[in-house]
Amino acid sequence: MSQFPRLLLALLVLLLTTGCGADDAAEADADDHEHDDDDDHDHSSDGVDIDLFFDGAIVGEVTTEPCTLSGGAEAECYAFTVSGDPVTYETGPFCPTSIDASADDGGIWFDGDGVYDIDGEFITRLAELYDDDNWQMYDADGNVFVTETAEEFDLAARPDVDPSVQNHCVEGRLEWLPDGEPISTTVLIPVEPVLATAPATTSGNLGVTLDGIVIAQSAPVDAILGAYTIAAFDDCGGHYNPVDGYHLHGATGCSELDDVATGETPMFAYAMDGFPVHSPLDDPASVELDECGGHDTGNGYHYHANTAEQNLVITCLIGQTVATADDNGRPPRPADG
Ligand SMILES: [Zn+2]
Ligand SMILES: [Zn+2]
Repeated sequence: MSQFPRLLLALLVLLLTTGCGADDAAEADADDHEHDDDDDHDHSSDGVDIDLFFDGAIVGEVTTEPCTLSGGAEAECYAFTVSGDPVTYETGPFCPTSIDASADDGGIWFDGDGVYDIDGEFITRLAELYDDDNWQMYDADGNVFVTETAEEFDLAARPDVDPSVQNHCVEGRLEWLPDGEPISTTVLIPVEPVLATAPATTSGNLGVTLDGIVIAQSAPVDAILGAYTIAAFDDCGGHYNPVDGYHLHGATGCSELDDVATGETPMFAYAMDGFPVHSPLDDPASVELDECGGHDTGNGYHYHANTAEQNLVITCLIGQTVATADDNGRPPRPADG
């Protein structure tokens, strides 16, 4: 071998051995994570970066453990618990109390077709919007019927909505959850994403936001509307139910990282397969996305969340998830998904 190729080979080996980071799994404790985004972070291609979670989003220790993924792959997973209470914003408001209320007094509703500000006028337009005169969510004085006690909340947020809370705007409160505490959720997410043989949906949560909230499946709009209720979301696209606590159904730009280094829009979550989730694209036509709404930018793969009106944050997952991560020994989900 002449000197020239030998030199090239040496250079290549040098490049290969120094180019890739060895920074994963180095830190296991969530408590001392400052939310500092070093410029040299190359998030998307490195697998899950626990450092990206906001302080307080993860409670307790982050551990790694062997896990079997949905496609049968044996992998290493992070096990951690998200707090269930967003650390970057206050939840609510959800329901307005009067038909004179402005958009600031209520949250939003989305049903697969549109996103609506839940202001007073929205409440008065329900019969027209859903073409059904049984909608009557306010009294003669213009007061909106809103769930006002933990009991009413429980009666409204279950598959067979109690007739007594029909025509109610349904909202939950932190203090109505068991013990008045946020409901935390322990998740297992592959440290390094492993592709599935084909994109798939998951029956459980779709992901976790960087500020400690689970991203739930679609809200069961038909059941909710069928009971003449609105399971109001706040402007961040989340709401409470008695079983899951506060959880997200729509991506509206909350809890984003301000660092947009590796995507066209900011990242705000990890999907359950370990790939990052970025906010919806301003112009979906500007970029070609796969059937799950993601793409590989050359800097690693990431999803773009659907816009909120679709009532589904992530269409499907291209990576394998942890088969057992979905049920935390919980009872079947209530009406509100
Ligand atoms: Zn992108
Ligand atoms: Zn829900």
